[in-house]
Amino acid sequence: ETAAPGSQQVPAIELDNVVKEYTSHGEVVRAVKGVSLSIAEGEFFSLLGPSGCGKTTSMRMIAGFEDPTQGVVRLHGQDVTSVPPNKRDVNMVFQSYALFPHMSVWENVAFGLKRKNVDAAEIKRRVGEILEVVDLTGREKRRPREMSGGQQQRVALARALVNRPRALLLDEPLGALDLKLRQAMQIELKRIQRDVGITFVYVTHDQGEALTMSDRIAVMNDGLVDQLADPREIYERPATKFVAGFIGTSNLLSGVVQEVTGSTAVLALGPSDRVVISTETPVAVGDSVELTVRPEKITIATEQPAGDRSVVRGTVSEVVYLGTSNNYAVVLADGAEITVFQQNAHDSTITAERGDTVWLSWQPQHSYVLR
Ligand code: ATP
Repeated sequence: ETAAPGSQQVPAIELDNVVKEYTSHGEVVRAVKGVSLSIAEGEFFSLLGPSGCGKTTSMRMIAGFEDPTQGVVRLHGQDVTSVPPNKRDVNMVFQSYALFPHMSVWENVAFGLKRKNVDAAEIKRRVGEILEVVDLTGREKRRPREMSGGQQQRVALARALVNRPRALLLDEPLGALDLKLRQAMQIELKRIQRDVGITFVYVTHDQGEALTMSDRIAVMNDGLVDQLADPREIYERPATKFVAGFIGTSNLLSGVVQEVTGSTAVLALGPSDRVVISTETPVAVGDSVELTVRPEKITIATEQPAGDRSVVRGTVSEVVYLGTSNNYAVVLADGAEITVFQQNAHDSTITAERGDTVWLSWQPQHSYVLR
């Protein structure tokens, strides 16, 4: 686990070896199998993973809607494992905005404060302030049904933020929006989070969304955290086969270690190809390993390149022109298929056609062994 930024301070949220088991029709389902993580104050933190991996369950344990079967939940250093949700200083925003349909935007946002008997002048000030943050000033009198999905989501956000929780938990809050609006709201959410400076914990199965907004991401797989790191590291250095496959497009290759020298190793891929890789993960001669290289790190050429790059030979099986890039599928001697993205930044020349023999090369540091 990577240290949270500013980890010398007390973390906003900690899960300490948390396990959650449900019993369903006499059968025990282990939804969360031992998760430990620590979220810093003011951090935008995402729980990312496919359906059923335990994201929502983990978040519900932070909120207090579920009791862990094992382990400890801490908020701002205090053990809250058996504290009920309404006594925890966190708020949750759901995908279904759950706005009151008969109330105006203003009334929806002011509702919680009125119930807490906050005085009228203070309500006016705080609701006005938060509507400005979510960019809904001037829309106070609208009803939810008179607003777009994105606007309704911002009302839901304002309603949660107006209580000034120390942390906000968001469960797929943009799930109901179409792609364009979703992308606009991602930027907007990140801006709002920066403006209010509150810790956000964000559940999503959408890798692009997590990469766009998060300070750090915990990638979950089958009830466990596979990798916890910042977006760049998650993308550039996926730790496991699962993370490599789930985030972006990856080429997975199998090879046998031929030679190890310092921080690099030579691998044999099939009968004739030899590649050099960097070895942060220790390997020994004779090991069978899986390695990955991202499609955009690969250079495609119709002649064998000179130099110390890793080079493999293959045959082009597919060429797709995509405007900003050309994508190639190349089959190697051992049958492995490699995807190559060639950016059309300077010219859009197609390097090779279907059936051509090509050499694919990349720098050793762009390919490494997966757990
Ligand atoms: P999704 O993105 O589909 O919401 P998720 O990653 O949030 O998925 P969870 O909702 O945390 O996953 O569920 C994790 C596992 O626990 C799943 O196998 C789910 O079927 C099971 N599960 C969740 N809630 C319950 C429950 N109340 N009773 C029994 N099993 C449950």
